[in-house]
Amino acid sequence: MERVYNFSAGPAMLPEAVLEEAARELVNYKGTGMSVMEMSHRSSSYDQIHQDTQDLLRELMNIPDHYEILFLQGGASTQFAMVPLNLMTQHGKADYILTGNWAKKAYDEAVRYGDVAIAASSKDANFTYIPNMAEVTFRDEIDYVHICSNNTIYGTRFRPDNLPQTGDVPLVADMSSNILSEVYDVNDFGLIYAGAQKNMGPAGLTVVIIDKALIQEPQPSTPTMLTYKTHADKNSLYNTPPTYTIYMTKLVLEWLKDLGGVEAMAKINQEKADLLYDFIDQSDFYRSAVTAKDDRSLMNIPFLTPNADLDAQFVKEAAINGLHTLKGHRNVGGLRASIYNAMPIEGVQALVNFMDTFEKNHR
Ligand code: PMP
Repeated sequence: MERVYNFSAGPAMLPEAVLEEAARELVNYKGTGMSVMEMSHRSSSYDQIHQDTQDLLRELMNIPDHYEILFLQGGASTQFAMVPLNLMTQHGKADYILTGNWAKKAYDEAVRYGDVAIAASSKDANFTYIPNMAEVTFRDEIDYVHICSNNTIYGTRFRPDNLPQTGDVPLVADMSSNILSEVYDVNDFGLIYAGAQKNMGPAGLTVVIIDKALIQEPQPSTPTMLTYKTHADKNSLYNTPPTYTIYMTKLVLEWLKDLGGVEAMAKINQEKADLLYDFIDQSDFYRSAVTAKDDRSLMNIPFLTPNADLDAQFVKEAAINGLHTLKGHRNVGGLRASIYNAMPIEGVQALVNFMDTFEKNHR
């Protein structure tokens, strides 16, 4: 069987060249006589992988030296607690912007650890847009502002030119579903976190990019493993890191670098998103709930056919045609195409071709 185009929201498609390289090195990594999976995390071979992965990420995202790059576990969901535990320490206050399900989950968790307020929300229109950040104000004496930069379920994203204006207050972003997909200036953020399983590698690794000035004593009773300082002091080797996922991430980052880096990737991503959205917009059969065109995600594109029965039929027929995992999230229904960095434009073209045929057969 051939490989399919996999539109999963995550874990998601990886570049085929990366999988092939991993396969070549699977049993005997560079003459070490063992797999990276079997290697001590204290060995020099692994240490090189660890360092190279950090260096590549720093280069690709242009991360200044005063930021630490941490390799953690527990997914982005663990960061929903780690962020308030470590950052809500001076004033005990933070402001959150609610633009979808994951932003809400982050907010719900933070409420447990301090005085948390909602500075802006797009719930009034079922999260189909991003509020205009020029109009959003924040409370005095807050420790940070939190956003989810790309809303995986609703298919919206904060454009790099529509970030909250927080002044000296650190901006924290959950970038799980659009890290490395377009250029954001790391200097605009105090902390960025992202699960690897969409744009960086397999599941199991959570990347945290944190301004060193924010690595302080956490709230009392914070577990050692949930303290940024623990991991920063030991270069993310306090305990066993997810070594194989980090290795895979290194291969993905090398692939991205060879392709020209984030700026080049962003151009391709824009082309892919335009291809799909242009088709949806010209059709009177398919429709997009994301009417705020400037806020549309380049990574997750939800859309609908005229009814739920046809949505289900679409998912079934698409899979037969090698186009997999197109069912929308259970919260919103419909369909969703996740087209992360590793999805080639040919995959999006194949989807558009199929959509055209499906429309002709079912209208
Ligand atoms: N934040 C966002 C934006 C996500 O898309 C997801 C997963 N879909 C999460 C957080 C949760 O990530 P994890 O499963 O790594 O905890």
